[in-house]
Amino acid sequence: MSKVALITGITGQDGAYLAEYLIEKGYVVHGIKRRASLFNTERIDHLYQDPQVENCNLILHYGDLTDSLNLTRIIGEVQPDEIYNLAAMSYVKVSFDTPEYTANADGLGVLRVLEAVRLLNLIPKTRIYQASTSELYGLVQEVPQKETTPFYPRSPYAVAKLYGYWITVNYREAYKMHASNGILFNHESPLRGEMFVTRKVTRAVSRIAMGMQKEVYMGNLSSKRDWGHAKDYVRAMYLVLQQDQPDDYVIATGVTTTIRDFIKMAFAEIGLEVIFKGEDVNEVAVLNFIDENVFIEKVGEPYLEKIKKRIGEIVVGVDPQYFRPTEVDLLIGDASKARTQLNWEPEYSLDDLVKDMMESDVKLMKKESYLKKRILFKKWWI
Ligand code: NAP
Ligand code: GDP
Repeated sequence: MSKVALITGITGQDGAYLAEYLIEKGYVVHGIKRRASLFNTERIDHLYQDPQVENCNLILHYGDLTDSLNLTRIIGEVQPDEIYNLAAMSYVKVSFDTPEYTANADGLGVLRVLEAVRLLNLIPKTRIYQASTSELYGLVQEVPQKETTPFYPRSPYAVAKLYGYWITVNYREAYKMHASNGILFNHESPLRGEMFVTRKVTRAVSRIAMGMQKEVYMGNLSSKRDWGHAKDYVRAMYLVLQQDQPDDYVIATGVTTTIRDFIKMAFAEIGLEVIFKGEDVNEVAVLNFIDENVFIEKVGEPYLEKIKKRIGEIVVGVDPQYFRPTEVDLLIGDASKARTQLNWEPEYSLDDLVKDMMESDVKLMKKESYLKKRILFKKWWI
């Protein structure tokens, strides 16, 4: 008999990679997706099968973390062995604009999942993974951050996730549920949402290289993040639920990098060197040098003449609209517990991640259909 997993947030970055990973392992995967006015299944379309297909191993249900009746019905019908609660309003910046909704989906949503499992008498059967986050550490109280580091959330997103973290611990202790938190540090990929900093950078650098965009405007260039690859991190989620005992784990690489350095790495990946000058809101990056062989190999000869004319010009600026009311300046995780107890090791380095994202975005920007769809590049999008 195949194991049955239910993934909330299956249309997101992690949901897509996790669904693929579990299907490869022989699971039947059920996913909860929200109704949207446009199709929002682009990340999992390659996994989709018509429900009429025999032994269909990916089944989607309409649902929402703010709707307890709907969640309870789906969990009752699916009878999952494992629930991965990945659904969330996951973008820190927007949580300042939609704090109440964020609290409802990211905080109370967790309670709804736990309570459904309890009310349906599924505690002996169903294991639960809660997508907790390094944003809980916020104004960090210790460097590096580990499972015992005190939390100090700095955004409505992080405060909502704090509730999600503790209600998971509480249900574990109160009702002996197999419920665990993965405290995941930032993880990225070619599937990362376009508004997150890494993806915003790899998209913009690809477009600048092809002459489709002159420059990109960023927020705080000095904050530091511990970035891993989402493929490595969904593997950790799976391992968390395979343990005999539920527990909480930090998942991180232990390497931290400024946004500024990430931008330099993205340009360097395609043979472009940029130099940062100036301070605060006047800081800019100027195109300084082109390694023509690398550029031709990674982007293509037809784009070379145009980019050569841009040497000495500004390609990155700062726009305070991207600053946050309260910032998380430094995140760096210590994943020793996961390494020893879960036997988890990341396979991707930061260099590998940048390469993967740049390769994918250069390819994507070249697709004419994509250009037509997204030609109206507006700053306010991200
Ligand atoms: P993501 O790409 O933004 O995906 C979020 C998913 O949640 C999407 O499928 C989204 O649906 C769905 N969703 C949002 N609100 C919902 C609601 N009210 N009801 C049902 N579904 C809803 O995020 P991700 O990067 O995959 O992250 C997965 C989880 O890990 C999130 O909980 C996030 O907060 C957490 N996390 C992420 C990171 C990271 O660096 N990626 C780090 C730590 C923790 P639509 O497609 O319809 O929008
Ligand atoms: P977060 O760590 O979940 O907030 O992930 P993000 O990728 O959204 O942001 C990571 C860091 O990049 C934060 O410290 C942001 O302030 C910083 N940052 C600087 N410029 C930008 C930008 O233009 N967009 C985003 N999303 N973040 C930026």
